[in-house]
This record gives sequence, C-alpha cells and structure tokens, in this order.
Amino acid sequence: MRPSLRLAALAALTLAAAFAGPAPASATSPATSPATQWLEAFAEDGGISQIAVPAPSAAQRTAAAAAVTATVTPLQQTGSTGTRFDLVFVGDGYTSSELALYHQHVAEKWATLTTLAPYSTYKNYFNVWMVDVVSAQSGVDNDPTQGISKNTALGMYFWCSGTERLLCLDESAAQAYAANAPAVDMIVAVGNSTKYGGAGYSTVATASGGNAQSGLIVQHELGHSIGGLADEYDTPYNRYAGGEPAEPNVTRYTAAQLTSGKRKWYALLGQATPDGGVIGAYEGARYYKYGLYRPSQNSVMRSLGQQFNTIGLNVMTQKLLAKIQLTTVTGVVPAG
Ligand SMILES: [Zn+2]
Repeated sequence: MRPSLRLAALAALTLAAAFAGPAPASATSPATSPATQWLEAFAEDGGISQIAVPAPSAAQRTAAAAAVTATVTPLQQTGSTGTRFDLVFVGDGYTSSELALYHQHVAEKWATLTTLAPYSTYKNYFNVWMVDVVSAQSGVDNDPTQGISKNTALGMYFWCSGTERLLCLDESAAQAYAANAPAVDMIVAVGNSTKYGGAGYSTVATASGGNAQSGLIVQHELGHSIGGLADEYDTPYNRYAGGEPAEPNVTRYTAAQLTSGKRKWYALLGQATPDGGVIGAYEGARYYKYGLYRPSQNSVMRSLGQQFNTIGLNVMTQKLLAKIQLTTVTGVVPAG
C-alpha cells in the first residue's frame, strides 16, 4: 500500500484512508522505481485508469509545503467544522483579477458534484471553502498545447507523464494553501482552463475549472475520501492472488461464496441497484481483470458519469451521517 498521506482531520474521524492508487505491491506489478507515484487519470468517455508519474523529491516537497497565507471565502458554510464535511477548493492559474472567475468555476464544480446521490441528499451538510490562491500568470502549463509555460502558484500542467488529459500539480503546495481553510477533509484543485482534464492524488483531486465534464472527477474521488471505497475498474493488472481486500465494495469471493459465507454484500445479491441491473459479483475490480469482483456492472467507482451502486451508496451514507453526527437527516430521505 502507498504510505498514508491522509489529512489528520480525516484520520481522526476514521473516514477511510483508502484512496487513489493501485497498491502495486504485488508480484504482478509493473516495475517501478521507488520515486514513482500512481495517479488516477480520467478519459472523456468516463474511463478511469492508473498512470505512474515521478514522485516529487523530499526537497521539492519541503519547499512547496512552506506555509502560505491566502484569503478564504466560503461558498457555503452550513455548520461547525466538527459536524460537517469540509471540502476545500484551491485554484491555479487565476490572477488577482480573475478571482471572480475562480469562484464561478468552483460553484460550477460544486453544482456538478451535487447532482449525484448521496451528495445531492447531504449537500447542506458540507462546508465548501474557496482558498483564493493568486497566480502570477493566467492559465496552466501545456494548455492548449505542449510547450506553453505559465508561472502559477500550484504549478499545474497538462500532459503529465505524457498523458494529455492528466492534469498534475504540486500536491504539497496545494496542501499548504488548503491549510488556510478552517478544516480540511478533502482538497479539490481547479485549474484555469477549459480543456478537459484532471487527476486523483492521495489528498487532492484536480479538475479543469472551465470544463463542465471535469466536475465528474470529484464525484468519483469523494467516493474514496468519504466512503473509503475501492476503485471498481480492472486495469492495469491481470490476476489477483492476495487476501480479501479491506474495502467494502470489492471481494475475492464469487456470488455463491459470498452467500455461503455471509460475506460483504451477500444480503443484497439480486436486488436492483441505482447504477443499473442487479447487485452481483462481477469479475474485474480494484485494478485486476481476474480474481476480484465488484457489486455492479458499472458504478461511478468504475466509470465517471455513473451512479453509486447500492453498496457504495450505503457506505457513503453511513460515513456521512457519522461525520455530521446524525443518525438520520430530518426531512430528507436518503436516496437509494
Ligand atoms: Zn478512483
């Protein structure tokens, strides 16, 4: 497993620590150097994959993590940080005269996120903070084409690791800016671009600020940071030979074995699920084509633009209710 980079606030609340990353510590892993990290990349057709990129050096991390001060504007503040999910936005490639545009882009991302259950159900239990990160120049690197270079606060760039849509940044710098918010449960970094792109880091999701479809990335990433859900896509590895994964939405057991052992989602087998079809044990999950099973054909943990399946929805709901310290939300019927 990757070293945990989860924010203390998250760990303290025992929201799950699993996040983007294929945990490539297995015999079938492609050879990678110790200085490699895995990011999630998002295709425009909804497909999700893992891409290895060079990890920053310790010196780079230290330099970027130095404290920085920035103004924080609430998009919405619904309660005290102890009983809310604190979603923190940072921006890159927005100059001091473009902060209104940045705020508009954040509002659009939030609107996209909250079209999907359970975010739609619990949106009034999120605090949404906008850290006004000011960049010297407008735009991000390699946008619209390779070779374009901009001086920006978070160093965002397309064509990360040779992949056009993979929008990387200085993760430590994003964390340092986000720390200006009253609390941090998850960081979303929006870049000043209209080009489709994004990336999933351990603690940060990136999305192109001016591209509507990029907002779907956040729906998936919060499945990790709120629900502790595993990815349900099945690349890059072939056959899984390890033990039962800890995440609630993947298993090494077939449907028959789930039933006989009363394991994981056995009680829901055969029932309709919001993402279509019925709950089962579908082979191919958590970076492996064979030997691991997912609960439904195509949930948002497998492809962007989809719904959570019943297992994901139930877990997300439980975690959110624990976070906001309610057993039920008055007047709201949880979706699904
Ligand atoms: Zn993922």
